[in-house]
Amino acid sequence: MKRVTAQRTAIEEVFNQCERPLAVEEILRQGRESVPSLNIATVYRTLKVLTEKGWLVKVYHPSFGTLYERSGKAHHHHFFCRECNRAYELPGCTLILDGAAPAGFIIEDHEVYLSGRCPACVGAEIIDYNAAP
Ligand SMILES: [Zn+2]
Ligand SMILES: [Zn+2]
Repeated sequence: MKRVTAQRTAIEEVFNQCERPLAVEEILRQGRESVPSLNIATVYRTLKVLTEKGWLVKVYHPSFGTLYERSGKAHHHHFFCRECNRAYELPGCTLILDGAAPAGFIIEDHEVYLSGRCPACVGAEIIDYNAAP
């Protein structure tokens, strides 16, 4: 029981240190820095528990798959870097929905995926965006 708690704490710590949405492999790799015995099954199980508790939410992407991020954030979008495969949280929503759908359609929700290259991959100065490790 104590071991399980340490593993869960390690996973929670990964999210506290990194604001970006994280893929399962990233969570495993970073979690192992504090709990070397952490395995993929435990990561999946813990992510399921933390999602059911409402501490995490899933972020789905058509090609990057399922990522996880802290819950309770205001509506926002994500940027996916094609080079390092990291996802970033973008501030707010700049989408103008007026006239986005023809008359007769009622827009209730939307998902926007931006992709390209992140500052770290471009070599820009801003390398700690979303505290990317
Ligand atoms: Zn990148
Ligand atoms: Zn939006």
